[in-house]
Amino acid sequence: MSQMMQDYIDEAEQALLHTYNRYQVVFERGEGVRLYDMDGREYLDFVSGIAVFALGYANKEYNDALKEQIDRIIHTSNYYYNKPAIEAAKGLKRISGMDRVFFTNSGAEAVEGAIKTARKYAFLKDGRTDHEIIAMEHSFHGRTMGALSVTGNPHYRAPFEPMIGNIRFAALNDLDSVKKQITDKTCAILFETVQGEGGLYPATEEFMRGVRALCDERGILMMLDEVQCGMGRTGEMFAWQRYGVKPDVMTTAKALGCGVPVGAFLMTEEVAAHSLEAGDHGTTYGGNPLACAAVCKVIELFDRMDVLENVRTVGAYLEKCLDELAAAYDCIRTRRGVGLMQGLVFDRPVGDIISAAMDKGLVLINAGADIIRFVPPLVITKEHVDEMISILRESINQVVIEGV
Ligand SMILES: *Cc1c(COP(=O)(O)O)cnc(C)c1O
Repeated sequence: MSQMMQDYIDEAEQALLHTYNRYQVVFERGEGVRLYDMDGREYLDFVSGIAVFALGYANKEYNDALKEQIDRIIHTSNYYYNKPAIEAAKGLKRISGMDRVFFTNSGAEAVEGAIKTARKYAFLKDGRTDHEIIAMEHSFHGRTMGALSVTGNPHYRAPFEPMIGNIRFAALNDLDSVKKQITDKTCAILFETVQGEGGLYPATEEFMRGVRALCDERGILMMLDEVQCGMGRTGEMFAWQRYGVKPDVMTTAKALGCGVPVGAFLMTEEVAAHSLEAGDHGTTYGGNPLACAAVCKVIELFDRMDVLENVRTVGAYLEKCLDELAAAYDCIRTRRGVGLMQGLVFDRPVGDIISAAMDKGLVLINAGADIIRFVPPLVITKEHVDEMISILRESINQVVIEGV
């Protein structure tokens, strides 16, 4: 590493709050699926800013759309209408089949909105203020207090207790465990269609259908967090779309703006008509013209570039290559995931393997201590997968077999 890059890193550690153990690199520029650090070193990126940069870096059409919007207007206020927000909401309705959209600035805020929606919906039904939400163990929904309260990782929650309260946890893909947590106060069941941070666990079809039936039977809202698994990552626009069941409320963010901070929570007309009303919820930035110009262009490019088809083809190939790798190495327990959202589960912590890969010009990320997560840009090709696998093999050999 150059002295210049080292100096920047040292300065960063003096100025930024140390809430991340960062990899020792300053990325400066991106091009397609490649990142470049300050020293001009090239990296193949299989993280895409954690499932964000779906279209790859420096997409000219996307960048031009943002530049144009910047010159027109960046921000107004939600007290007025703006064209990009109208178009973005129409686009999101079309690709999701949901009816109403509220734009947020992040995934966590989208989850906050979903929680408020559920509580208000239940409150309007029976006037009580002791409603419960069932969330899943090993889930991840964000770091704000509400989102943290439904995050099924006690380690993340512990120092910040008390949580918002009336949250119960069940196990994903275990319908009986959900039924056990249901009471007459339950207002919503919330889970990620494919758990991301928690270990790349897809919901089973049986679980999805079971929860839907349970919710219908009891008048409970089914709320799906699609912040990470949505926006094409599994080969459907939203992961729930391959199960034949529809949620009442859903969240999205990460790839929604492909780098511009934007999220959303969406709901059916039935929920919209009986939940949040004027004065109940708001945001200064959420859905501003710049963020929504990004959403519009992302949706347009997804269609035109046939991103879903690429995810299906290359996702299947990635899956096959990772399965072969898992079969070839004793230290790999299994592969899990869907489409271009995959994880390799190791029998040991993966930090050293990821660092070795980084040294060899491949960017990877973990999910928990023992899992390497693969969430590349959705525009990668089979050749990129081959290149990634080859560097990953070298890295595993070096760390696990040679022990250096
Ligand atoms: C990343 C993530 C969030 C939080 O999104 P932020 O934009 O970081 O607030 C929420 N839910 C899921 C499933 C996520 O992966």
